[in-house]
Amino acid sequence: MHERSRQLFEASQRVIPGGVNSPVRAFQAVGGTPVFFREGKGAWLVDVDGNRYVDYVGSWGPMILGHAHPEVLSEVASAAARGLSFGAPTELELEMAELITTSLPSVEQVRLVSSGAEAVMSALRLARGFTGRSLIVKFEGCYHGHSDFLLVKAGSGALTFGNPTSAGVPAEMTSKTLVLDYNDPQQVEDAFRRFGPEIAAVVLEPVAGNMNFVRPSQEFHDTLRRLCTEHGSVLIFDEVMTGFRVGAQGAQGVFGIRPDLTTLGKVIGGGMPVGAFGGRRDIMARLAPLGPVYQAGTLSGNPVAVTAGLATLKRVLAPGFFDTLGKMTTTVVEGLVREAGLAGIPFCATSLGGMFGLYFRATVPTTFAEVMTSDKEAFNRFFHAMLRRGVYLAPSSFEAGFVSAAHGPAEIEATLSAARESFAQVRAD
Ligand SMILES: *Cc1c(COP(=O)(O)O)cnc(C)c1O
Repeated sequence: MHERSRQLFEASQRVIPGGVNSPVRAFQAVGGTPVFFREGKGAWLVDVDGNRYVDYVGSWGPMILGHAHPEVLSEVASAAARGLSFGAPTELELEMAELITTSLPSVEQVRLVSSGAEAVMSALRLARGFTGRSLIVKFEGCYHGHSDFLLVKAGSGALTFGNPTSAGVPAEMTSKTLVLDYNDPQQVEDAFRRFGPEIAAVVLEPVAGNMNFVRPSQEFHDTLRRLCTEHGSVLIFDEVMTGFRVGAQGAQGVFGIRPDLTTLGKVIGGGMPVGAFGGRRDIMARLAPLGPVYQAGTLSGNPVAVTAGLATLKRVLAPGFFDTLGKMTTTVVEGLVREAGLAGIPFCATSLGGMFGLYFRATVPTTFAEVMTSDKEAFNRFFHAMLRRGVYLAPSSFEAGFVSAAHGPAEIEATLSAARESFAQVRAD
């Protein structure tokens, strides 16, 4: 059923390293051949062999309105007809900045970039420039893009500095990054007691979506906010995934936290390359051309990309959008739990807004270590069983899932009937 995908993957591997332009697409975690897609419409994807799938990846988050939304496409087409790029300011960028700053009260000023990784990298430089300090605190299992300082895992002890997780990153680059356990307030207390005056920034996913889906405690958030304030460190919420995805005010709205800086991406581009970082006016004032922290981009604020983002955000910010999306997501997740229960499979799931986690274990994990104890083999069998039955899940048990506004009762029905057979097959294998 995947003949053409297999041929294309073969050919791609000759001219593209691993056949893909971003590693997780290669299906290494689940095995088998990645599916090559031809088109998408609403909640559905069609692959190059003509198979149809209900999509729960949504391009890893951006496609919150579903694929090829007609009005978004028509706005993008008009923008493209007016010119693809000017390298000079446009009214669209002002509109986007006003939309972001009115939606997120913590963001007083914002700068647009072209990816999530670029947004976080720039926010960290700004935090260091603002504080005049070098140390960064991050958390195991949180992903912030592929920049050198952030490709790091914990050192040998809780309060030792990190080691690179990628070849090509000199140890010096990660020697200023402290990697702590997510959702462990005590470790953060200890780190600040020891290094407080040297900590430039604490960066985290305020709901983690790159180690499956992990919702931290309110105490964790409150502790981070209090310690950063006490020590003059910059609290950075990396909301590249959660921004305009878990709620209209992102995770900061859900937890009632005012971060100093926020990074955005994914949904704010609606499927085109847009990222952003913003926050306190006094911090943003340190950025070039006003201040000494340099940051720039030829295609930053690109008019076509920003149009796709604006067209998406306006619909996402309509009253009731997240109520409906949240209910749809809950229905999917509860249905999956019910089907797994009927099949007698240890399984649980949870969601927030249009984002969810599926776990092949008995209870919802709250730490990276707990996520790591889920049954990866069971997930992989389930993944392939669902794929054969026309449901496209993220090809790894360490990724969050996404529901779009285009998912409705018909898609849920198709998903749950596929799940019934797939869970039965997982048990039988
Ligand atoms: C996806 C993601 C990034 C990286 O964004 P890119 O657009 O892939 O560079 C950074 N942080 C988080 C939390 C993400 O989910």
